[in-house]
Amino acid sequence: MQSPEVTKNIHLHWRRTKIIATLGPASKSEKKITELIDAGANVFRLNMSHGTHDEHRKLAERIRKISKRKKEHVAILMDLCGPKIRVGDFEEGEIELISGDEVVVSCTASTGMAGLIASQYKSLYKDVKKDERILLDDGKLELVVKSVNGKEVHCKVIYGGILKNKKGLNLPDSNISINSFTAKDKKDSELAIELGADFLALSFVRDEKCITTLKRYVKKSGGDIPVIAKIEKPEAIKYIDNILSEADGIMVARGDLGIEMLAQQVPLIQKELINKARLHGKPVIVATQMLESMITSSKPTRAEVSDVATAALSSADAVMLSAETASGDFPVLAVNVMNDILREMEAYQWQHGKFGEADFEQCAEMIEPDRKAIAKAVKTLAHELKLQGIIVPTRSGSTARVLSADRPGAPLIGVSSDEEVCRRLALSWGVVPIYIKEEITHDWQGLCNKVADMCNIASTGNRVLLVSGFSDDAELNEPVLKLMKIKN
Ligand code: PEP
Repeated sequence: MQSPEVTKNIHLHWRRTKIIATLGPASKSEKKITELIDAGANVFRLNMSHGTHDEHRKLAERIRKISKRKKEHVAILMDLCGPKIRVGDFEEGEIELISGDEVVVSCTASTGMAGLIASQYKSLYKDVKKDERILLDDGKLELVVKSVNGKEVHCKVIYGGILKNKKGLNLPDSNISINSFTAKDKKDSELAIELGADFLALSFVRDEKCITTLKRYVKKSGGDIPVIAKIEKPEAIKYIDNILSEADGIMVARGDLGIEMLAQQVPLIQKELINKARLHGKPVIVATQMLESMITSSKPTRAEVSDVATAALSSADAVMLSAETASGDFPVLAVNVMNDILREMEAYQWQHGKFGEADFEQCAEMIEPDRKAIAKAVKTLAHELKLQGIIVPTRSGSTARVLSADRPGAPLIGVSSDEEVCRRLALSWGVVPIYIKEEITHDWQGLCNKVADMCNIASTGNRVLLVSGFSDDAELNEPVLKLMKIKN
């Protein structure tokens, strides 16, 4: 249910902040995927931590089939596990850890039982020392290392609870020697190439080298897929500028970030990362626990509503749902709720000319001068002239992404004759991807009339701005900016 301000305003027809929905048992059917697209999902995440290659193959085929039928540009993001450490299975599926008790984390056992946890990471005993913490199940349970005897790590339970099969294990105090691009990641990225995934996300990125390694592997295997760096380790914060130069976008992966760092540090890190990504002209996703209570409840908590609103007000490109859509009881409702919150915030931002404000301007000297000046001019024109749209013919998507980073008030209509480019633009803030069959020529008037018609903004006299000419290589930039009237 949307407030009247949102529904009646043509300028707000398209939602600016994008929604990523993780698919899983609760949402894998053709019916649910269709409903999720109808509710407003722009990108589907396939989480490689779960499911077989065959299951992911089926899901990807289903997404492509449905989005083709619905003529929607929906992207597929395949999320590689990276060196995520997990516990193994338990004989009974779970054990109970009682605060104060002793428990052994074993690097040799294949199955756990009461008092014994099998680690999937077989070198864990080499990396941990006495008094370091071992956190389990998103940090809900906590152990402290008492001693290391051979390949067995003896621990005391500090905070107990139920521990189920394959839950995550974090070592926030230890130096981990595990390789950041695993054998499983290699196989999964080959699958991503086979399925034509639009984005690869890499977990537990430490520095830009992790991204380079993945990109090289993908290239060597015959693919070319943009890489989103998941920021969830303190090292990644330290090297964020290098990571942003190498990656094609970032994800604020608050689940693990809030375990690896103090949870109270996460809100400011989130804000900082959004600004940094925008300065680099790359999309930024805010993820995890956004509507967590909706896994089992039809209504979000007030705090969750505020969290989604904050991500929109601080100008994230996209917000992500994880278990809410993958395994929750209300996957479609969760997307609906997210859509309503985002639209309410965007109505306010549009009315007050406050899209993308924050303290972005203060650090704007980092942006290349051409890009800064043109993007600023576009934003001013869109706001002051209340333009119906900014039409951006784009070969690689670069111009649309550059303008998107400044968050102009009018919808950015990214026009491409490449469906892959259209799908990739589905992740970028404010971009409405439009596919046209024919090669884009310099008949700007013809193009604007046609695109305006396709977007239902074609009343004679409506004004749009045409912008073109940015490239991934700043040296090749030749920006064109043309204010045009639609003629029918
Ligand atoms: C996270 O940790 O916040 C995250 C998005 O990663 P995953 O869901 O793979 O744990």
